[in-house]
Amino acid sequence: MTTQTPITAPTEQGGQPVHEFAAQMMIPPAEDREWQERANCLGVDPDLFFPERGASTKEAKGVCGGCEVKVECLEYALAHGEKFGIWGGMSERERRRLRRQRALARRGAASA
Ligand code: SF4
Repeated sequence: MTTQTPITAPTEQGGQPVHEFAAQMMIPPAEDREWQERANCLGVDPDLFFPERGASTKEAKGVCGGCEVKVECLEYALAHGEKFGIWGGMSERERRRLRRQRALARRGAASA
């Protein structure tokens, strides 16, 4: 009979035995969401940022307009594929357009 030695993860796991699969997983570092603490929309009714289809987005965009973390918010939404709501002052449609423009720019740069 053979004795199986437990796999030991690197130091973040404190050297504790872990399942082989877990040891092989790449766990990304905790995401920096400090920017959310500086959001202009803190305390604002979230429904404002998720208007019904066809409803005005003007008021939400007004809040975003004066937001110091607008860029971080928009990039977060793009990176996480947020499909609904106003993020970084942009609607779903505007983010889709921006994603397309960036994809085209990347393809253009890759083929140059
Ligand atoms: S850009 Fe708009 S939705 Fe994003 S954090 Fe600022 S106020 Fe909130």
